[in-house]
Amino acid sequence: MTNTKAYAATAADRPLVPFSITRREPGPHDVFIAIQYCGVCHSDIHTARSEWGPSNYPVVPGHEIAGIVRSVGAKVTRFKAGDKVGVGCYVDSCRTCPPCLNHLEIYCEKGPNYTYNSLEKDGKIPTQGGYSTQIVVDENYVLRIPENMPLDRAGPLLCAGITTYSPLRHWKAGPGKRVAVIGLGGLGHMALQFAHGMGAEVIGISQSLRKKEDGLRFGAKEFYASSDPATFEKLANSFDLIVNTVSADMDWNPYLGLLKLDGVMVQLGAPPRPPSIQAFQLIGKRRSLAGSLVGGLAETQEMLDFCAKHNILPEIEKIPIQDINEAYERMIRGDVRYRFMIDIQSLG
Ligand code: NAP
Ligand code: ZN
Ligand code: ZN
Repeated sequence: MTNTKAYAATAADRPLVPFSITRREPGPHDVFIAIQYCGVCHSDIHTARSEWGPSNYPVVPGHEIAGIVRSVGAKVTRFKAGDKVGVGCYVDSCRTCPPCLNHLEIYCEKGPNYTYNSLEKDGKIPTQGGYSTQIVVDENYVLRIPENMPLDRAGPLLCAGITTYSPLRHWKAGPGKRVAVIGLGGLGHMALQFAHGMGAEVIGISQSLRKKEDGLRFGAKEFYASSDPATFEKLANSFDLIVNTVSADMDWNPYLGLLKLDGVMVQLGAPPRPPSIQAFQLIGKRRSLAGSLVGGLAETQEMLDFCAKHNILPEIEKIPIQDINEAYERMIRGDVRYRFMIDIQSLG
């Protein structure tokens, strides 16, 4: 067991505090990773504050992990000490169910072993995430970060990146398709870059026009404020695909009205309360409302290569771990450009 410095949430209504955890001794198939950076995803906040139901405290959040391999188990073949690697939202899965066998490990029928607020494969030890100095993960669930990719910007690709890349691929964003991205936070700013990189015409919709210049730079052809009612008249019936990344409770009905005949709105944001949908917003134009969860390991590696090829990276604001509680407050206000990145050295 290795003592590891971390930051943890100890209750839903308390700030994160310094904490100590132990990591298991690496087994034959394990990779022991020295964490350098960890991105801050809004799911970290939902979990730290029990917004999706009671969390299993103490919780060390963080599933946008980038680091360097320190050592590997005797049977590890894919990695060696010194490699640049990442760990995303899950650290294992059953490996035998149809989704696992079909490279869709995140949809594991027994439930994947999430990186935090979940259990290790033994079904007993709680998993703890990347707001910590080191982690031990089975080599099959570790991603290779391309050599030329800066480590401090790679982490968010493992959640915000794959979570937006996967539905855009699944619903075939590409030339001739008109796509809207709602919410310009960590996920949203990646979705704009991917949709543009795939050749779709992409439009950004934010609460205000404050992030317009950035949105256009990320590839949006046009940019609109949801606070302006004229937006919903102007854009009515005009999208093949809408990617909704908003983390807060909101009325989805006006956005469904922006879909064309047979259009699809994909829900990525996971707000605390269930929405209320007007059936006629779907019926009238044979529209679909869908959801999508992160993405499988093979597609994550494909996404990393797509990023390297198209020069796509998240924009980050580096913070020491001591600023994490303030970063959470800023994210809730939408004041993030566009991912907070914890420099794990600050835990040292
Ligand atoms: P984030 O960086 O905090 O961005 C969320 C954005 O939503 C904000 O920047 C803001 O964009 C917009 N927003 C916030 N409050 C709003 C409100 N009251 N009304 C309208 N818009 C609002 O969060 P994130 O890390 O991108 O995560 C977004 C959501 O996706 C979270 O719920 C997270 O849990 C979920 N998630 C899901 C998956 C999945 O697999 N499906 C994976 C990762 C994350 P503007 O400033 O542009 O308005
Ligand atoms: Zn996430
Ligand atoms: Zn499975």
